[in-house]
Amino acid sequence: MIDLRSDTVTKPSPAMRQAIANAEVGDDVFKEDPTVLELETYGAQLFGKEAALFCSSGTQTNQIAINVHVQPGGEVICHEESHIYKYEGGGIAKNSGASVRLLPGDRGRINAASIANWMNPSHDVHFPLTQLVSIEDTANRGGGAVYEVDQIAQISQLCKELNLPLHLDGARVFNALAVNGLDPANYGAFYDSISICLSKGLGSPVGSLLLGSAAFIEKARRVRKVFGGGMRQAGMIAAGGLYALQNNVQRLHIDHQHAKQLEQALTSCSYIASVVPVQTNIVVANLQDPERRDVFIELLKVKGIACMAFGPGMIRMVTHLDISNEDIDYCVETLLKL
Ligand SMILES: *Cc1c(COP(=O)(O)O)cnc(C)c1O
Repeated sequence: MIDLRSDTVTKPSPAMRQAIANAEVGDDVFKEDPTVLELETYGAQLFGKEAALFCSSGTQTNQIAINVHVQPGGEVICHEESHIYKYEGGGIAKNSGASVRLLPGDRGRINAASIANWMNPSHDVHFPLTQLVSIEDTANRGGGAVYEVDQIAQISQLCKELNLPLHLDGARVFNALAVNGLDPANYGAFYDSISICLSKGLGSPVGSLLLGSAAFIEKARRVRKVFGGGMRQAGMIAAGGLYALQNNVQRLHIDHQHAKQLEQALTSCSYIASVVPVQTNIVVANLQDPERRDVFIELLKVKGIACMAFGPGMIRMVTHLDISNEDIDYCVETLLKL
């Protein structure tokens, strides 16, 4: 099966498994796992942050960050289709007792003007206190859209002026960096906290990193424990993450090229109404006949290609490091013949 449902389906390569097998480990709740410490130091330095915390998932890093930044009754500003709101099981309300201000925006992205507009005046007791802004780069529901750097700079500047922390859900931040060309340390300076996923396009089996100041990460470490995320000999999985950061970042442009090839093929298919312009590794297409979405997915499956429903009449394909040039050639050929 050529699995394009998500970039989370990757399996560790032989070299990554070797790194995992050789990992030195200790009890990470005692801060004694050398591999976890190495991964945290590596990730923090990469993005110019003081400290990092290795967590079990991107949902966990996001939810911990929100819990540290926000008090119960406070409000988080984010895009209406953001992962933290739409795909984290109501965690903002459940874990942190906070409300959300959901903003519309082009392809999963919000801008400084609308944040300024929806920031609640703190002197008026009617309104929940706005306590956090969170953005997603790349934006999943936006079809892997990348923020313009000057847009992020404006948001970051505004948040500083308003004394609001800015969080990045960077599940696919390396895909964004491959497009905007920024050095991770320069990019990291825009944010107070950053979540990065090691288990998406980077191909590690488990884990995410939360990055921020030393004081922020100290608080986050406590929250991680309370959320049940304190892991013991976690070096076994951190080794995969470290290997991923050191070996699988430079190749992401290949996934982007593959996604473009899929976009091109889909654009010329009569059964496709439109394709969201591809910027990174996510391809979102709308079918001519929305009713036939599930039939289309089934037909492709029979041909050995898996993709995902992504809304009414909408499908998503995601490229990743387990998809080869030959796989893409086969997909293109199959889509054109379907
Ligand atoms: C995948 C993803 C996450 C984290 O998901 P987990 O499965 O919990 O690791 C967070 N944000 C976005 C945008 C994602 O795509």
